[in-house]
Amino acid sequence: MIRIFILLFFFQSSFSQDLQSKDYFKNLTSKERKIIVDKGTERPYTGKYNNHYKKGTYICKACSNPLFKSNTKFDSKCGWPSFDKEIEGSVIKIPDYSLGMKRTEIICSKCKGHLGHIFYGERFTKENTRHCVNSISLNFIEDSD
Ligand SMILES: [Zn+2]
Repeated sequence: MIRIFILLFFFQSSFSQDLQSKDYFKNLTSKERKIIVDKGTERPYTGKYNNHYKKGTYICKACSNPLFKSNTKFDSKCGWPSFDKEIEGSVIKIPDYSLGMKRTEIICSKCKGHLGHIFYGERFTKENTRHCVNSISLNFIEDSD
């Protein structure tokens, strides 16, 4: 009997999370939805924030969760915005075996929307980490000072 209750609890909590995410995604355009919900990738060198170096905070397009500070952004020349460190707790890492490669997907910790992938050991910066993020998954809030 207890087992059934536990199962029901898990079913219900994952179900309500889905509903919540759908709410975050309901105002996205079809182009945004293709990347954020369907885990697509924007074409390199086309994103709004690829060569963007203003001071501020990059937030999730879908739910406004603060994801990256501008001082962690660097020019990796890969064609997508690159960050060497996320704002603590803002990003979840998931193994991704699609396209016949072993990669690590990064999603927003709040709405679970797709952000991009994370790569290690490339020696671009001291952190030795590259969050490769679709511009379309982001919004930017410029520092006011
Ligand atoms: Zn989000």
